Amino acid sequence: MIDLHDLRLDDARALLAHDAYGSLPEADESRTQYLQRVIDQLCELSLKDPLTGLANRRHFRHVLGREIDAVARSGESALLLMMDIDHFKKVNDTYGHLAGDRVLQAVAKALASCLRPMDTVARYGGEEFTAILPNCPPSFGKIVAERIRATVGSLQVLVAPLVSLQVTISIGGAFAPEWVRSTTALWIDRADTQLYRAKSEGRNRVYIDQQPEIAVSAEERKMLFGHLSIGDPAWLESVSTDAAVGAADGAMKRVN
Ligand code: GH3
Ligand code: MG
Ligand code: MG
Repeated sequence: MIDLHDLRLDDARALLAHDAYGSLPEADESRTQYLQRVIDQLCELSLKDPLTGLANRRHFRHVLGREIDAVARSGESALLLMMDIDHFKKVNDTYGHLAGDRVLQAVAKALASCLRPMDTVARYGGEEFTAILPNCPPSFGKIVAERIRATVGSLQVLVAPLVSLQVTISIGGAFAPEWVRSTTALWIDRADTQLYRAKSEGRNRVYIDQQPEIAVSAEERKMLFGHLSIGDPAWLESVSTDAAVGAADGAMKRVN
């Protein structure tokens, strides 16, 4: 049995106490339960952005990796959104860093309110956010992103008595390539390109890169490609959906 006195828990406890988790053993708690609680709280702390309470970049990367595998297995459609507050530097420059922080918190809350519990919304860094939407049909992508854009645009963020601010957000999105194994870096890149486009074409807008969809069942996929080694992402990226459709000839059809 573990003796808590043999463990060096002071730093962990100080860290958790600092973040208002509080972690002294409860009266009715066993040592195992207490340790489990400390571990859970440390995990929670390492996955969250402290300012907004959203998932942090580390957690985002983990979820994105998991999602790309799920898409490759199931062929379901998943959307990645990259979002960046427009002219945010001006907020800091004009109203101060604390006002900027309030805006970040309000935008984070608005983003979370627009998404489903199964989606992951994260602070990517600075005034950039991301969202991963598993099982999101291509026809919903633009609708969801537009809803986010409109919600953020309608916020009135109180940054001082009688001073409320409005901000806008630019959004770039990309669907994961279905069943063709890709990399998270390429997926992020494609969404980023669309975000860059939204910025350069005037901001406060949405662009989504829609991958060609292939109507093929999991069973067909297994029959057609099960014998191939699909572990090499570079190979699959270079083959691309075009070649795969050609190889399978009439067995699959391109939807758009
Ligand atoms: P653009 O429309 O091109 O995105 O312009 P922008 O001003 O939003 O972008 P830029 O990259 O020039 O500025 C981002 C600013 O975000 C600069 C940085 O000081 C600020 N920032 C980053 N992290 C935080 C934070 O945690 N709190 C506050 N208040 N500001 C932050
Ligand atoms: Mg930025
Ligand atoms: Mg910005």
